[in-house]
Amino acid sequence: MTGDELLEHLRARGALLSGHFLLSSGLHSDRFIQKFRIFEDPPTAEAVGAALAERLRPFKPDVVVAAAIGGIIPGYIVARNLGVRDIFVEKEAGAPALRRGFRLARGERVAVVEDVMTTGKSTAEVIGVVEAAGAQIVAIGCIIKRGNPTFLYPLVTLLDLPLADYTAAACPQCADGAPLQDPGSRRA
Ligand SMILES: [Zn+2]
Repeated sequence: MTGDELLEHLRARGALLSGHFLLSSGLHSDRFIQKFRIFEDPPTAEAVGAALAERLRPFKPDVVVAAAIGGIIPGYIVARNLGVRDIFVEKEAGAPALRRGFRLARGERVAVVEDVMTTGKSTAEVIGVVEAAGAQIVAIGCIIKRGNPTFLYPLVTLLDLPLADYTAAACPQCADGAPLQDPGSRRA
């Protein structure tokens, strides 16, 4: 699946919403990507995950590490396509951690899988957990990149979709008094 094909799927499945949204990064935007319109349809989710897996394959990861909740489904599909293990990072007492008996070995080659990347905060949290475990990040795979975060590791992306995001203070819709919607993605 190419980026253009993914964009077509997002449009066709009503995943691109317009309004006044509070993003999980804390920024405001007039656009929201409801990625679960993609993940709820297994054939589409499979095709997206397979495409990301092919972009990550040259980095020869031993394990996929995703961020809960949005990364769990694509992380699993990527790992299945690569024939590697699949684990995820989630919050424990407010801090990102590996739970459920998930472990990383020192030097293990890790592909970090992210669904939608805006500021990269969620990805940075996963990176912190992987680095603390002594594993080696070989690449970051992102399905949709709407912001422009930078990392010290190679980043591969299926779809670059730059959208206008604002701090609350600079948000034109806040200035107009438009009610803010919280579609909820990472906060839990
Ligand atoms: Zn706003």
